[in-house]
Amino acid sequence: MSFENNSTVEKVKELNRKLRARHGKTYRDKFTVHYKGDDFMQLAFASKGCESAKKGTCVMCNGFGPVKEVASPEQVRQITRENYEKHYPRQVLLDTSGSVLNFDEYPKENLEAVLGSLSEYKTLEKVFIETHFQTITQEKIDLVRKLLGSEIAVGFELGFESAQEDVRTLAIAKGEDLTNDAFKNTLKLINNNNMTATVNVLCGAPFLSEREQFVDAVKSIKFCFENGADDVVFFPVNIRPNTVIGELYKTGKYPQPSIWTYLAVLGAFDQKHLARIHPAWYGNKDTSEYVDDKGFTEAKSIMPRDYEKAIGVISEYSANPNQRRKILTNFMETSSEYQVWRGKLGHIPKNEIPLGKRVEEGYNGL
Ligand code: SF4
Repeated sequence: MSFENNSTVEKVKELNRKLRARHGKTYRDKFTVHYKGDDFMQLAFASKGCESAKKGTCVMCNGFGPVKEVASPEQVRQITRENYEKHYPRQVLLDTSGSVLNFDEYPKENLEAVLGSLSEYKTLEKVFIETHFQTITQEKIDLVRKLLGSEIAVGFELGFESAQEDVRTLAIAKGEDLTNDAFKNTLKLINNNNMTATVNVLCGAPFLSEREQFVDAVKSIKFCFENGADDVVFFPVNIRPNTVIGELYKTGKYPQPSIWTYLAVLGAFDQKHLARIHPAWYGNKDTSEYVDDKGFTEAKSIMPRDYEKAIGVISEYSANPNQRRKILTNFMETSSEYQVWRGKLGHIPKNEIPLGKRVEEGYNGL
């Protein structure tokens, strides 16, 4: 993409680097593990630090490492086995503070250790690997297949955030190398190897009106499905300390994304698609294990009166993939607050200021 706003992008990234330096490094534990029931385990070994973050990408992220100590291959093997054997889950998600398939971040020996250990379990059906789109090459796919053998299915989880290149590159600073065309090629490569792609899409990019955030998310999810994504993980921006978003929030330039916008985006899809759109990070972040500084976000005070009810609807939606349209419709038809908000959405006036200018002015003074 020839991008007209290169100088603005550079300024955003520079600011991001400065903020990260000012706030210091984020240290994650050597590893973290979470289970969703007995069937799903998320295993994150901390990396040496995200290479993209060092360049200043991703205004919402504070999970980029590095750690004080990266686990050794022997520790990786032991930790993987100990934790897998607690529940023998059918599915495992491997993630890290960055990209699992970037060996400058996540040593190759550690990938060999974790996938080699997992390949021994006949109970395991699928491994998901979270990694930057650029790290997915035929060579790496072949390596993953060799390490896991032919019986275990493989899926990749990829950060994309928005299909609108200006939103993704300017407002989110996801990196100019992530173009829609490059992303489509990665999806094709994954599909051609009989592996699946789960794509992360964001709700609440900064400097967009609620209406623009709604349109952005709907367009982005459609783009993902039209270009070979199997599933979409849809998550609202979480306002985290030590991030550009956190700074914007503190200075009143960024409100927490609206739960109504989030629900309205889901409401734009039919059951066939909703079964493949999965919510994440939508809870009350005051108590979230993902937030380092638990007192920082103020979900409840900013969310509308029906916050708890709406959160309950998203949880119900999440747990019942085959009933999602029905659950949403029932809520939307019975919540007068939602209907009032939905009615107003279409009347939010168009913002005529170009996004580049909004971004530049928004970051002034931070
Ligand atoms: S969102 Fe991912 S790619 Fe971006 S800085 Fe964070 S860890 Fe790195």
